Amino acid sequence: MMTNYLQKAVLIVDDDTFVLKITKAMLERMGFTQIEKASNAVEALTILKKSQISVQLSLVDLNMPDIDGLELLRLFSEIDYEGDIILFSGEDCKTLQMAETLARARKLSVLGSIAKPITPDKLMSLLSKTDMMDSPNEEITQKSKITKEILEKAITDENIIPWFQPKVIIATYQPIGVEALARWPNSEFGPIFPGEFIPLAEEYGLIDALTDSLIKQTAQIGKLWSHKGINLKIALNLSMDSLYDAYFPERFNTIVTQSGGNIEQFQFEITESRLMGELAQPLEVLLRLRIKKIKLSIDDFGIGFSNLSQLHELPFDELKLDRSYVAAKPSDHRASAILETTIQLAKQLHLTTVAEGVETLEDWNKMKALGCDQVQGYLIAKPMPAEQIPEWLNNWSQQYKQLFN
Ligand code: C2E
Ligand code: CA
Ligand code: CA
Repeated sequence: MMTNYLQKAVLIVDDDTFVLKITKAMLERMGFTQIEKASNAVEALTILKKSQISVQLSLVDLNMPDIDGLELLRLFSEIDYEGDIILFSGEDCKTLQMAETLARARKLSVLGSIAKPITPDKLMSLLSKTDMMDSPNEEITQKSKITKEILEKAITDENIIPWFQPKVIIATYQPIGVEALARWPNSEFGPIFPGEFIPLAEEYGLIDALTDSLIKQTAQIGKLWSHKGINLKIALNLSMDSLYDAYFPERFNTIVTQSGGNIEQFQFEITESRLMGELAQPLEVLLRLRIKKIKLSIDDFGIGFSNLSQLHELPFDELKLDRSYVAAKPSDHRASAILETTIQLAKQLHLTTVAEGVETLEDWNKMKALGCDQVQGYLIAKPMPAEQIPEWLNNWSQQYKQLFN
């Protein structure tokens, strides 16, 4: 029964501390009570060997430096681990499926695999395959009760708002722009993150309404900033669905103009892994945005499988290097090599490079040494409400000198 299951221990194995943290928080919200975290295979095995902890479910990241997920599965079978396993990864579905097959061949109980990011919905649908989930607990039903109507109302009432995270030029420390990140702070279920409501909005056909609302709010904020003499480029995340809408560029133009904003202040980010496949329609929309002088970024570069030579045929101006590469340890030679060649090639293609998820001075220095142009991340600032940006700008002009002296 679910209630029993929730009392059993769950183990999350991922080298990314951010993923560990958000996955743990998500499991807690789902009602799991005993959650163990391991940032590598050795830690994972130590936990599994502890007799007082009976791990019933392990969530295993396939991509880890040193001992990767596949090798960990072999070690799981060597110690006769009997709990269930869910694999997750930023890799494509085929790799995940092959990993599942391999694990089953090792007589491990694999419930299935999840492409990152892990969401409660994805997890629930795997857990519901077992008999452990036949009496879902209160909170899960609540969560999955974000109906189309609730989400639609939140969008109409502008309860989903943009927060902003600064981007800084490495060479000069100068803030150049901000990325707008959607936030739903006061839902009836508590704060909900975009990793949860963006996929829901796409599923419910509400993503256009949400994007339009964020464009409108952001245009108004941009106008206000301009009046204060703050000229930052504002990057909005664009769902691939919007690129299949031939009218999007016109609609964008209308909303911004009606809100008193300036379209050239905007920039759009589109996730790399979604830029694969049939591209004729998206290409038209991208080109029309480009003709309107809107800058375009490839987001999360490195997670998907496209190579730069394919992407350079598309009208992009900027490449955002995914956090998993930026935060990789110097000993992770594969990540370093990918970063280095990507930045060099991007330069030849006249693409601006932006490192995402820069959390430490070490990350900053590494990206600087590699010739990356801009950085974004907790080291500089976490995403914040629009009202806090002017004050942050003021503080930053002093703060960076202390930070980098
Ligand atoms: P993204 O576009 O890759 O956004 C960057 C994410 O990394 C944000 O998460 C941000 O808060 C987080 N982040 C920034 N710096 C750091 C750092 O130094 N360390 C760590 N660990 N994390 C950092 P967030 O806000 O939860 O957004 C998650 C994803 O949701 C975004 O990933 C984006 O793909 C999507 N998203 C957010 N807002 C929107 C939106 O308005 N429209 C669409 N279509 N997608 C959105
Ligand atoms: Ca982004
Ligand atoms: Ca990103």
